[in-house]
Amino acid sequence: MFADRAKIIIRSGKGGDGHVSFRRELYVPNGGPDGGDGGRGGDVIFEVDKGQNTLGDYRHKRKFKAQDGEEGGKRRCHGADGSDIVLKVPEGTVIMEAETRKVIADMSGDNQRQVVLKGGRGGKGNQHYATAAMQVPKYAQPGQPAQELEVLLELKVIADVGLVGFPNVGKSTFLSRVTNAQPKIANYHFTTLSPNLGVVDTENGGFVIADIPGLIEGASEGVGLGHEFLRHIERTRVLVHIVDAASTEGRDPVDDIYKINKELEAYNPEIAARPQIIAANKTDCIFEDGEDPVARLKAEFEPKGIKVYPISAVTGKGVKELLYGIRELLDKCPSEPVVFEQEFFPEDVLITENLPYTVTRDKDDPHVFIVEGPKIEKMLGYTNLDSEKGFAFFQRFLKDGGILDEMEKAGIQEGDTVRMYGFDFDYYK
Ligand code: GDP
Ligand code: MG
Repeated sequence: MFADRAKIIIRSGKGGDGHVSFRRELYVPNGGPDGGDGGRGGDVIFEVDKGQNTLGDYRHKRKFKAQDGEEGGKRRCHGADGSDIVLKVPEGTVIMEAETRKVIADMSGDNQRQVVLKGGRGGKGNQHYATAAMQVPKYAQPGQPAQELEVLLELKVIADVGLVGFPNVGKSTFLSRVTNAQPKIANYHFTTLSPNLGVVDTENGGFVIADIPGLIEGASEGVGLGHEFLRHIERTRVLVHIVDAASTEGRDPVDDIYKINKELEAYNPEIAARPQIIAANKTDCIFEDGEDPVARLKAEFEPKGIKVYPISAVTGKGVKELLYGIRELLDKCPSEPVVFEQEFFPEDVLITENLPYTVTRDKDDPHVFIVEGPKIEKMLGYTNLDSEKGFAFFQRFLKDGGILDEMEKAGIQEGDTVRMYGFDFDYYK
């Protein structure tokens, strides 16, 4: 199978914790705090690699992690920053949050490199916490936690023209014909893969055609292969319907087009509304007797503004006219590529929701209440308690997170002490 889809877990590096230490000098009994800051955690970065054309690299490995920052050290030593991880993807890859399918990044066009998860900030060492009132701060800021996210990578090829049609109508034959035909044709390295892409050069400029295989009835509901491939026409600007005008498999070509447009409409009405052309293929197999299917197609669709070109992908008859017709249509429609806007911002999501914490009364001192647990620790990591704003934010978190209520339940009184990770607060309502 063509690897155009992968689900992976990415994780940024945790920020290194700030360090708690005190200067020790001979004859200086109480040296000041000298704990250094933690290093920054590494980012998760996505980058376009023009040499890649599948997501094959992501089929067997599921977890990708940037490096954690190191803890700060004694004597104001700064912890080392964690290295970033750079994930290379083919151009046209769209990165989505796996559950909601909201777009995080569209790796195409100008966007060749994007930081998707930021590494955690390093925590401040206790050297920053000495105040007139607190000369021996035993608190250092924890590093900001890592962020972890499951993401869906989808390759949505970038092509000007999408070929759509039932199986066996001649899409591949047509594509291989025009990519080997005059005047000059280049080829992407998609040859054994699906969907196939081909570049056609005409005198008026080249364009890229994508053969979207297996578009069959019910595709929009995920029946058969169709659904897998519909995403590849999302970025095309013009659709070319290929039909079997000779009805060699017994289907009616007019019917085929209505059915396919119904599928496109159900999948994404915006795609169904794009300019279309009909290639009435296999005309070499049409016999003189009976009603002319090309005339029927023209009568049905040309009044709707959809041009019909009779061709034979096998003999080459009519193919050149069709290519010029496509070129003309492309010139009339806007040339901006389809780009997916970011709708999910990982940095907005604080992952403190369902984490546990506990409130306990100190065994030795009934006026001290100890609050601990990953929820508190993470929040401390996010908060800069030095600043008034950060402190207010943390108080709000204690209230909104139900932690104040828990302390009340545990029997806390005015003037008691709240202890969190070496940091003491006085409790006032
Ligand atoms: P796809 O499934 O739409 O990609 O169809 P293919 O390109 O694989 O073609 C299916 C079959 O139709 C093959 O046997 C082709 O040789 C045949 N075919 C394609 N185009 C023509 C044509 O213009 N005339 C005739 N007689 N046969 C054709
Ligand atoms: Mg095919």
